[in-house]
Amino acid sequence: MDKIKIISSHIAEESPVDRQERISWWRQDILRKAKILVVGAGATGNEVIKNLALLGVGNVFICDMDRIDTSNLSRTVLFSKDDVGKKKAKTAAERAAEMSVYPDFKVDYFDGDVVYELGDGVFRQFDVVIGCLDNLNTRLSVNKRCCLLQKPYVDAGISELACSLNVFHYPHSSCYACGVSSRDVAEERRIRYSCDVFKKRAIEEEKVPTVQISSAIVAALAVQEAVKILHKDVLETEVCFGKRYFFQGINNNFIDMIVPKKEECLYHNSYGDIIETEFTNKVRLRDFLEYVKEKNGEEYTLEVGSELKFVISANCRSCNKEIKFYKPAHRIYEEDVYCEECQKAGKTTNGYTDYKYVLDFCHDMEEKDILDMTLEEIGIPKLHILSLRNKDDKYIFYELSGDIKNVMPNIY
Ligand SMILES: [Zn+2]
Ligand SMILES: [Zn+2]
Repeated sequence: MDKIKIISSHIAEESPVDRQERISWWRQDILRKAKILVVGAGATGNEVIKNLALLGVGNVFICDMDRIDTSNLSRTVLFSKDDVGKKKAKTAAERAAEMSVYPDFKVDYFDGDVVYELGDGVFRQFDVVIGCLDNLNTRLSVNKRCCLLQKPYVDAGISELACSLNVFHYPHSSCYACGVSSRDVAEERRIRYSCDVFKKRAIEEEKVPTVQISSAIVAALAVQEAVKILHKDVLETEVCFGKRYFFQGINNNFIDMIVPKKEECLYHNSYGDIIETEFTNKVRLRDFLEYVKEKNGEEYTLEVGSELKFVISANCRSCNKEIKFYKPAHRIYEEDVYCEECQKAGKTTNGYTDYKYVLDFCHDMEEKDILDMTLEEIGIPKLHILSLRNKDDKYIFYELSGDIKNVMPNIY
């Protein structure tokens, strides 16, 4: 009997992460320092966020633009009946903070359109990006930013009892887009945009038939990959990037395949050196261009890329009259492209319309008024990274780093 030690005082002091720390290679300090970006706080996002909080990951950023719906409740561990109607991202962040094993867990959230309103600089701050999305459009946009900033991208998908997991790290492997056909990309555009450039308000998106257990399986696999990626310097087995795993729960088939790097993939670009600035997206375009000119001793042109078209005017789809917009295309809906009279008369017609837009912004641009607009007004999100080009086509990249406190007040 004298061999039995009373250890009850010990139990009270036991660490909540004791069991995982017993894994020989486990480094809890790596997880505590880690920063993970979770895009999508639906069924899979809920499971992923729960896993991260319980593992003791120190910093989590959650993105979602939707509100909680009754139909979510059977699949969302972080939401309860009283949450119906509340914002998913904010609610998930609050629950994650309650659930974390650490009181100093840091969580921030973004409640908006990831494709157009989340700056590329956000992605720069994170070690791993986990996509818990239900549509190709947002997946491709997240993939684009992961390529530009060379971040590991773990993408989870579900359908009925099946789930798929994609793990990429461009330029070390292929990217998500390498495995997507151009036909699927075209179909996705057809669903979301009119035949010219404007957004459709009501999109014909299909509701995926699925169940919580599929989310739980794929979320566990996704977070396990993230844990391994974070431990890459201490793990003997290397994480395989450029791979797709598919689990069919109906017959327990588990297959993995390599996604080959496509030479002609349009997503294989990365930013060069990024220069931090104290600016936010509230700076006037004129002042920003002035600053860049002063710093570099020559004029630079701000290039926003074809996805961020700034529309000056478009012709009414019905009577062809010119309508002034001075707005980025992503803030204009298809039905806005009718003049007031035609809207009142209920005249509608489909088809392509002419529109005038800007992709390059510089001091000597034709539409001088635009120089007095803020970067936010021309469509640049907070904490974005801006590409500037001089007359010799040399590029420099400036980040609106002044926004970091606005975008992630807890993490920073
Ligand atoms: Zn690719
Ligand atoms: Zn009209």
